[in-house]
Amino acid sequence: MAGVHGYGRCEHLTHVADTLAGTKAGHFVDGLSLNDEQRFRLVRQSVAGLAIGDAFGQQFFNPRHAPLIGLRQIPDPHPHWCYTDDTVMAIAVVQTLIAHGRIDQDDLARRFATAYVAEPDRGYGSGAQRLLIDIADGADWRDVSFALFGGQGSMGNGAAMRAAPIGAYFADDLASVIEQADLSAEVTHAHPEGRTGAIAVALAAALAIRVQRGLTNEDPHCLFREMIERLPDGPTRIGIKQAAVLPANTRVEDTVRTLGNGTGILASDTVPFCLWCAFHHLHSYTDGMWTCVAAGGDRDTTAAIVGGIISLSAGPEAIPSEWSDACEPLPRIADGER
Ligand SMILES: [Mg+2]
Repeated sequence: MAGVHGYGRCEHLTHVADTLAGTKAGHFVDGLSLNDEQRFRLVRQSVAGLAIGDAFGQQFFNPRHAPLIGLRQIPDPHPHWCYTDDTVMAIAVVQTLIAHGRIDQDDLARRFATAYVAEPDRGYGSGAQRLLIDIADGADWRDVSFALFGGQGSMGNGAAMRAAPIGAYFADDLASVIEQADLSAEVTHAHPEGRTGAIAVALAAALAIRVQRGLTNEDPHCLFREMIERLPDGPTRIGIKQAAVLPANTRVEDTVRTLGNGTGILASDTVPFCLWCAFHHLHSYTDGMWTCVAAGGDRDTTAAIVGGIISLSAGPEAIPSEWSDACEPLPRIADGER
């Protein structure tokens, strides 16, 4: 709640504006420059990692699959592992970026609502369902998003779950990563915490690309520092600060006790764990994914977030073909795409 956590929308926006000014002033000048072809390749890489993570994580809500975790044996790929709302919404985000070169919030709201009406059984949360039905019925997203949860807006993890491809798209401009992730979140998650979660995940994706290119120190402490100084204060940032000091060899159950695992489906109990997992497994997609399902909680979403980040640092070859073949085929992202 904005009042409880001590800051509201205006303070959040002020912080974002300050952060943008600081970034533009040259706090993060590293020479990364992407052409359109590279940008789209990175976005597709992130979406693939996100979608396969989503579908993989979802498999482990089936209690019969729990024994597979210790054996590191993937679930039967027949029938396909189905992706969920995380992937559907991430694809809508990417389609908006391709259509406009930025987050057009009205277009994004329409795409979210259309995708929901076409496939309402992709595991949407109850708040998201209400919002998307209202938008599909003609309501303005501004009215419904800011009205959720007694006028606070949602502080859930649903904006974070679809944010990694935004970091990939704008990776060469961190000011835009922050600004566009914030805009993408606001359409459904108007609460500052919901938005901070999206900004953090998008920044992590942009940092993962820098790691892959050798442009930044891949020590998790350094990555967390880059992250924390760019986030508005609040529970999600506090959780990320806790994640920053949790050693790599911390047992997963102890990590969950400290950071959460998305059980509360809040940005603040999801994103800190995801960043800890991603930053300590930057070069192994499968290790990151197994850690997410071992942690339990909102495992389709944690695996989607972590997968969308690690696929950028580890590269597309880090996703085993058995995993990508097991995942339900993804819809086309752009017209004319093969
Ligand atoms: Mg889901």
